[in-house]
Amino acid sequence: MERDGQLESIWQSEVKHYGEKPFVSGERFNVMVVGAGITGITSALLLQKKGVKCILVEASNMGFGTSGGTTAHLNNFFDIPYYQVIRDFGLDAAKLLAQGANEAHHIIKDQINLYQIYCDYSIRNGYLFSLDDDQDQELQQIMEGNQKVGIDTLETGVNPFGIPAVRVVEIPNQAQFHPLKYLRILLKEFINSGGTYVENCRVSSVEEMDNRLVSNTTMGNLISDHLIYATHIPPGRNIMHFRNAPYRSYVMACKLKNGNYPEALGYDLSKPYHYYRSHTLDGEQFIIAGGEDHKTGDVDHTSESFERLGNYLRQHFDIEEVSYKWSSQFYESADGLPYIGQLPGSPDHVYCATGYNGDGMILGTLAAKVLSDIISTGSSIYENLFLPARVKPVAELGNIIKETGNVIKHFVVDKFAAEKIVGLAQLANGQGKVVSYEGNKLAVYKDEQGRSHMLKSDCTHLYCTVKWNEEEKSWDCPCHGSRFGKDGRVLNGPAVSPLENLSN
Ligand SMILES: Cc1cc2nc3c(=O)[nH]c(=O)nc-3n(C[C@H](O)[C@H](O)[C@H](O)COP(=O)(O)OP(=O)(O)OC[C@H]3O[C@@H](n4cnc5c(N)ncnc54)[C@H](O)[C@@H]3O)c2cc1C
Repeated sequence: MERDGQLESIWQSEVKHYGEKPFVSGERFNVMVVGAGITGITSALLLQKKGVKCILVEASNMGFGTSGGTTAHLNNFFDIPYYQVIRDFGLDAAKLLAQGANEAHHIIKDQINLYQIYCDYSIRNGYLFSLDDDQDQELQQIMEGNQKVGIDTLETGVNPFGIPAVRVVEIPNQAQFHPLKYLRILLKEFINSGGTYVENCRVSSVEEMDNRLVSNTTMGNLISDHLIYATHIPPGRNIMHFRNAPYRSYVMACKLKNGNYPEALGYDLSKPYHYYRSHTLDGEQFIIAGGEDHKTGDVDHTSESFERLGNYLRQHFDIEEVSYKWSSQFYESADGLPYIGQLPGSPDHVYCATGYNGDGMILGTLAAKVLSDIISTGSSIYENLFLPARVKPVAELGNIIKETGNVIKHFVVDKFAAEKIVGLAQLANGQGKVVSYEGNKLAVYKDEQGRSHMLKSDCTHLYCTVKWNEEEKSWDCPCHGSRFGKDGRVLNGPAVSPLENLSN
């Protein structure tokens, strides 16, 4: 498995394995970066190029997380619209966010030029379109917000995706790329510049000892002056798990009968919204479309999410074949902005970068800039905007109440919801289910040969009951988004330990 799910994303063939590289025990690094997605690889490279001695540690392989399951639109607008940022944080903050988006896009372009990266980068116009009157009011506010922060947004009569719309607006100079073609070259440059990269090494905790950080990993202790958790959500137990809600989003890459692949990026304003682009891979064209987001572990049948997405796409596109389908995880922050900086409740010099919503290609790159500036110069112009310790009661309260209610519901209700083990006979090969047996709850997976594999169904993070994800063949925790393979191994944090195996 090279991604955190069973289904193969369109990008996955570019995963590069570097094997296990033992580090010298006791060696001290200036910075330890944890996680080889876009945030971690970019941070490690920017720092190493500044002469900072870095080690990049990855639990699996590069692109294993959402950077291998993204759709890689590069936008200067975000899931949180600028009018909301202006309302909740003020106009100056919104302008700074827009500046950050442009700066991150420039960093990506600079790296592509500097290292001559062939990653299918291309400039595209973005199109937002409203499908009904409510969406149109939202679109009007989005346009006004964009104008206030200086983002060109023009009404146009044409929707390049052909979906009938009340109104269509164009936002020029967005872009797209192949995320793993880009990241594998950044990683190569990091290693060529003297950086140390270690795969198959999970970090479980960090503590301060004698003025240095000592990290506990599956390969032993590692010593550094600074540590960046570029893990999408920091591992272990901390306040970030109450400020970020995990969501799954579904994607399909399809071939079209009419060969009409729009060279554009598109978004409707449904809740959740659909997103569209096209991509040419090895001479073959695809339309890549996503949506049907839901809170992780909140649906009984993930196959139905794909079914709904497929049906929706068939209404609007002349689909010949669905060539790839996959799902992936993102984290919605309580107030809409990401958390980038010192991790609250951790020793000094331990940083996090999380809460990107569906915008982590740009925000992950911006996080790398922010954190590398803080570490190398002591400050960043963005640090107050993204401060993880900020409290925005008005903006975040509704979301925190909603998400806390959801966690309690899953913690209490799911404990009593297991089916009796007699139901196991009906379990199809290749599927899993939580069942009860002699007062215990078990997560049982029946493999393709009909053998049952039993795990304890308590998530090892905060003991909520995991739920079977029939499409990605994983056990997903509905409380804080930890995910485990059918063998119980950790796919996504914040959990750091596997589900307990009861088969042995
Ligand atoms: C379906 C979907 C589509 C998206 N489309 C877009 C888009 O078009 N544009 C956009 O800007 N954003 C998009 N996003 C969001 C974006 O892809 C993510 O925000 C971004 O990839 C996150 O990158 P990351 O490096 O922070 O995390 P990840 O890519 O998840 O990387 C984290 C890495 O850390 C490793 N790790 C985790 N825990 C540990 C540990 N304890 N020890 C060691 N290693 C660990 C993991 O194995 C993983 O490799 C999308 C998200 C989804 C779900």
